[in-house]
Amino acid sequence: MYSVRQIIKENWKSYLKTHSPTAHQKEEIQKMIDCSKNSCNSRICSSCGKRYADDWANNLVNAYARFHARHVVLTTPSF
Ligand SMILES: [Zn+2]
Repeated sequence: MYSVRQIIKENWKSYLKTHSPTAHQKEEIQKMIDCSKNSCNSRICSSCGKRYADDWANNLVNAYARFHARHVVLTTPSF
């Protein structure tokens, strides 16, 4: 099974032959390719994005788990 990083890593050099990304784009791609267990924090890194989303979801669960709430729906009659 391929990862986004693996696909980009395998095709990055051939992509550069036909396209002209900016220096910033090249830097972000290189950070993503070199990303390992330490976060690269690149905006396009799917590994870091997944880790960030998981942390964010866990923080939300922890923040709201202490509230005991019920969901109530109120409706009004139509006229
Ligand atoms: Zn990363």
